[in-house]
Amino acid sequence: FDDRDGWIWLDGEMVPWRDAKLHVLTHGLHYGSGVFEGERAYGGNIFKLHEHTGRLIASGQILGFNIPWTAEEIDAACIDVLARNNLTDAYLRPIAWRGTEMLAVSAQQTKIHLAIAAWAWPNLFGNNRMKGVRLGMAQWRRPAPDTAPTASKASGLYMIGTLSKHAAEAEGYDDALMLDYKGDVAEATGANAFFVFDGEVHTPTPTCFLDGITRRTVMKLAINRQMKVVERTIRLEELKDATEVFLAGTAAEVTPVRCIGAQTYTPGHITQTLLDDYEALVRKTPEEVSRIA
Ligand code: PMP
Repeated sequence: FDDRDGWIWLDGEMVPWRDAKLHVLTHGLHYGSGVFEGERAYGGNIFKLHEHTGRLIASGQILGFNIPWTAEEIDAACIDVLARNNLTDAYLRPIAWRGTEMLAVSAQQTKIHLAIAAWAWPNLFGNNRMKGVRLGMAQWRRPAPDTAPTASKASGLYMIGTLSKHAAEAEGYDDALMLDYKGDVAEATGANAFFVFDGEVHTPTPTCFLDGITRRTVMKLAINRQMKVVERTIRLEELKDATEVFLAGTAAEVTPVRCIGAQTYTPGHITQTLLDDYEALVRKTPEEVSRIA
């Protein structure tokens, strides 16, 4: 993924894609002291850019560091990256990490770096998305909020995501559904999960995983449609009673789920309505977006 044309914003400068390199003794690589974002631009507008930038800054603060750029500077840099790469519909990846000044668990004096890349990435699940994805059950659980900094979009937390996704793919699934440390339903490896019970839209309370920006958007879209939205603990045994299941995330957008293990689902009216509403929303201007959801 490093050998391609394009420009990456790195610590305040645009550098050619191939030259955006780090030293091997980078703290972020050894000790997982990195935080990142995933954003999407549609028709030249970055969807909920300022919210993503806010979460990036907050993620760093949870890991004990301040990103040395203001939210306005980071917003502007994201917009620059998109323009410089001649992209209007793209995925953006800002990432901040501790540098090379110290290489030990304690790394108070490390410089904080920030890079922003953008590339065309139609959907996390590619061609599978519209027909629905197949989920396997993950063997790894989301850790408790006093076991890991679960409110931060921290690179280190994705270790269990990659392990779970690889295991699911090895069994022929598209992704994995993760439980939390209590054994209740949590999320997929890169998206939040929604379940339809008796015509109502239910989603797990985000006590140990990200309260996704797409998740909150979809909840608002559902409310706008007069659907009943319920945030609660969802137990594993309840999955068989759901009539529709879908995922929501920046990269996944709204993606119907066809099965979780042996349990099959048929994407229905509620999933289709929210998928259509989300696709329409992301193409509106930022002002219209903030008025609607
Ligand atoms: N959970 C995980 C593990 C994720 O990686 C993501 C994607 N950032 C989400 C949930 C959804 O978050 P968002 O809607 O803000 O992209």
